[in-house]
Amino acid sequence: MTRQAGIIGHPVAHSLSPVFQSAAFAHCGLDVVYERWDTPGGRLPERIASLREPDVLGANVTIPHKEAVIPLLDELGGQSARMGAVNTIVNREGRLFGFNTDGPGFVAALKAEAVFDPAGKRVLLLGAGGAARGIAFALAEANAAAVAIANRTPERAVRLAEAVGSGSGIVRAVPLDVALGEYDCVVNCTSIGMRGGPAPSGIPAALDSARSGTLIVDIVYAPELTPFLAEAARRGLRSIGGLPMLIYQGALAFELWTGVRAPIDVMFAAARNELASRAGAQR
Ligand code: NAP
Repeated sequence: MTRQAGIIGHPVAHSLSPVFQSAAFAHCGLDVVYERWDTPGGRLPERIASLREPDVLGANVTIPHKEAVIPLLDELGGQSARMGAVNTIVNREGRLFGFNTDGPGFVAALKAEAVFDPAGKRVLLLGAGGAARGIAFALAEANAAAVAIANRTPERAVRLAEAVGSGSGIVRAVPLDVALGEYDCVVNCTSIGMRGGPAPSGIPAALDSARSGTLIVDIVYAPELTPFLAEAARRGLRSIGGLPMLIYQGALAFELWTGVRAPIDVMFAAARNELASRAGAQR
């Protein structure tokens, strides 16, 4: 029986997930079709109910439905209940389980691709939106020594720090002009630098105060070399882009659906190939 999986969001036309998930299923010899399931808000209950069918493995969930799917599921796993957001749904014999692999994918990417274990490290997040939320929860769970959050709208950073920190003192909001030298890792979690975004040629913070050992991370993955990463390279700072986070969150979802180890290299190759052809089409 051919099984199904897909990505639920609105819009989903530009999602890379179908490209690298399909490559992973094919590589592992699994008969699974992964589709784009564009779902306007009013059709979400019907779409989620359809995931209970025996031939459906599950789904990814993206903007704007990560919170709205929660009441439609049977159980929540990992940190998804505390986070209040689900990006992966698994169908187990008609019961739907929600997980969030965004933050764990970020941490897995740092460990595997940048040889950076956040345990005991001080990390600064620039931005306090949905992506920063997942990352902040995962860094706290990974025993980071400090998670500081700086955002254009400071109240949002304060609210996020409160939601993650529960009074631990490890997670706190800081001003945008905080000195970077205090941190082992600085992460752009804003949309600054994203192609087609609000500030495609901007950078989220000047790097003058970063010290030589600081790891610079940009979770924006299109373009793969963002202005922030280019600035880090100009200063000789170690850096990693957003594609690894995207691939590792997808790999964790793949493993939840199938129980099979995700073919990371195959997924990277498929995503890079697609990004290159999209960039070529825009030239
Ligand atoms: P979001 O919830 O809309 O949050 C956007 C964040 O960017 C907010 O902190 C916002 O600040 C800030 N921002 C936007 N425009 C800005 C500007 N011109 N100047 C200063 N700050 C600005 O978006 P999101 O879902 O968190 O996604 C953020 C970025 O991460 C996107 O580029 C997305 O593609 C990328 N992303 C990557 C992955 C991955 O797997 N690599 C996963 C998720 C997201 P305010 O609060 O002040 O508005």
